[in-house]
This record gives sequence, C-alpha cells and structure tokens, in this order.
Amino acid sequence: MTSEHRTQVPSALPTPARINLLDLDRAGFERLFAELGQKPFHGRNVFKWLHKHGVVGFDAMTDLPKTLRQRLGEQTEIRLPRIVHEQPSGDGTRKWVLELADGQRVETVYIPEVGRSTVCVSSQVGCALDCTFCATARQGFNRNLSVGEIIAQVWHVTRQIGTAPTNVVMMGMGEPLANFEAVVAAMGIMQDDLAYMLSKHRVTLSTSGIVPNIYRLREVADVSLAVSLHAPDNTLRDQLVPINRKYPLEELIPACRAFIAGDKRRRVTWEYVMLDGINDSLTHAKRLIRLLEGTPSKVNLIPFNPFPGTDFATTPPERVEAFRQRLLRSGLMAMTRKTRGDEIAAACGQLVGRVADRTRRQAVPLDLRLAAR
Ligand code: SAH
Repeated sequence: MTSEHRTQVPSALPTPARINLLDLDRAGFERLFAELGQKPFHGRNVFKWLHKHGVVGFDAMTDLPKTLRQRLGEQTEIRLPRIVHEQPSGDGTRKWVLELADGQRVETVYIPEVGRSTVCVSSQVGCALDCTFCATARQGFNRNLSVGEIIAQVWHVTRQIGTAPTNVVMMGMGEPLANFEAVVAAMGIMQDDLAYMLSKHRVTLSTSGIVPNIYRLREVADVSLAVSLHAPDNTLRDQLVPINRKYPLEELIPACRAFIAGDKRRRVTWEYVMLDGINDSLTHAKRLIRLLEGTPSKVNLIPFNPFPGTDFATTPPERVEAFRQRLLRSGLMAMTRKTRGDEIAAACGQLVGRVADRTRRQAVPLDLRLAAR
C-alpha cells in the first residue's frame, strides 16, 4: 500500500490533540514557531494578540501572513475554559466558576480595591494537603491545572473587567508548589511585557510550605512569597497544616529566609488564620514573635472564614486586634486582612466548587484542641 492510499483510509485512531496555544509561554511560542518553520517574531505576535489584546480567532491576527493563519487554524487551537457561573457580591468582589474541558470546575475571584485590583487564581482542582480549616481540602485532590487553565483565569478576568488586574495572588484552590512547572510558566506569562506585565511585587505565590520547591522556585522565578503559617510551633502546626509533619518549622523558616536573601527590601508574608481558642492567644503571639525573629516579615492575620460543616470559629475582632498590637510592639509588620466576598463564598479558604465532602472527617479533631493548650 502506498502512503497515498493510507491517507485516504479513514483512520480509526483519534486525531492527535492539537496544541492549545494557551499552554505556551513566550519561549514556548518561539519554539513552536521554529518547529513550524516560521519566524520567532510571528510567535511573539500571536502571544501578544492572545494575551494583550484577548484575540482568540486567527483571522483577526491581521499582521500574520494568511497562509500562517490557516496553518495555525489547522494545527493548533486556543481552548479556553468556559465561564459557567458568575457571582457578584455587594462589596464589588466577583467570583467566576470555570468549567474545564473534562468537566471539572475551578473558581477565580476578583477583588477590587482603591487604586488596585487583585485576582485570586486556582492552581489545582481540589487539594491534597488537608489543612483542617480549609473548605477546598474537603473535596480532596483531583488533578493539576495546565498552564492554559491557570492563565485562562487571568485572561477571562481581564476581559470581564475590561482591563488587566494590577495584582495576582496564587491563593485560590490548590497548592501551587505541588503543580510547580505549570504554575511557574503561568506566572511567567503574567509577568511578560507582551502579556499582563505584572512586576515581581505584584505576583504572589502562597504555599503551605513545600520546602524543596521553595528553594526551586527561587532559582526559576522572581515573585513574592506568602506562606501559610497559622501556628507558631510544630505541635499545633502539625494539626492545622499537616504538611508540617513532613517539612517542620525548622526547615520551613530557613527556606523562606533563603528565598528573600540578597534583597534587603523583600519580606516574607506570613498568613495566619485566626481560629478562636486555637492559635490566637497572646502566648501564641509571643511564640510567633520569637519564631520570626531575624526574618524580614509581614504578618497577615486572616479572620477565619466559616463554611458549612466546620466547627472552627473566628477570633472576635477585638482579640485579633490585641494579637496584632502585640506583634506590632515587637517591631513586626502586621495587618488584618479584610474579609471580602464572604457572602458569595469567595473569601479565603471558601473555594470548593460544587463538590461533596469526601473526607468525612470530624470538624475540629480532639487532639487539635489539646495541641492548642
Ligand atoms: N495552598 C496555598 C494557597 C491556598 S489558600 C496555601 O496553603 O497557602 C490561601 C490562604 O487562605 C492560605 O493561607 C490558607 O491557609 C487560607 N485559608 C484557607 N482556609 C481558610 C478559611 N476558611 N478562612 C481563612 N483563611 C483560610
């Protein structure tokens, strides 16, 4: 049989998946265009059309040769997740539910403030880390998001709002450092001048503390680091953030110090969720001060955002403030994060998609109450 015949026989094999251009950063575009025998600057142009101008149809990319546009249409695609739900809230916060090609869902939140706007981006469907006070943990881990599925969240918000956000925080569903390559590439697109142009101060990755990947991140990305601390000692942190059993504080703190080393203006942001009667006493504050001694730090106190089925409660505001004052007195920078979008379940730790609780665990385990003493 000649090859000519072969091409005429309808193939029972599925056609190979087309490259989704949303999965490529600038270097990826240049590589792909080289493979297609095209000039790299055409690749950069398509990248710019896609992210800076939000154009997803090749015919509208008017500075590309017609033959190239045709070829891109045959061999590649621009596949965006679909917005299936949008929820605005009274304070201007908006939450979108995106449906991915396989039907999975993730959430993205937009938080406008005076003079700035922040998008809270998800990195995984669900999460494997099982932090006891987090709603996403309840659905267990499903899968990593692709580069395209991560950057599409910024793409969609930019088009929905009509302008690019000024800040991105990798603080949505999932643990970004457990989806390392895709998150790093997506953050690269956020920072690229041909795309969203965000500086290193305006892209923040939040991690529960996957220590080896904090060191790796320092090598390949220039972003700001936030760490979900939530407890000033291992006994309590083991309970609240179970990954601490693998990477305890004596490993986590040096990794964070190394991350900002060499840049005097940099600080680590420590996230500390205020859980009534668990981690919020003045003794905890003192231990926290001792723990962070010598590390350029900023502490973000987050009032606990309740969700159905949790037994945790938030610390009353006056005690949050007393805790904050204690930190300030020691010279630590400390602020209380304003809760935004809580009535639409868009606040920190409330992003769950519409997935049932598969873990069936006790809301506040007994050993946690003991550890808090
Ligand atoms: N996996 C990453 C990003 C997750 S969420 C991380 O752990 O940092 C971003 C922040 O929200 C984290 O500090 C997380 O601990 C916090 N958070 C989770 N559940 C919360 C809740 N119910 N109320 C307040 N903050 C919560």
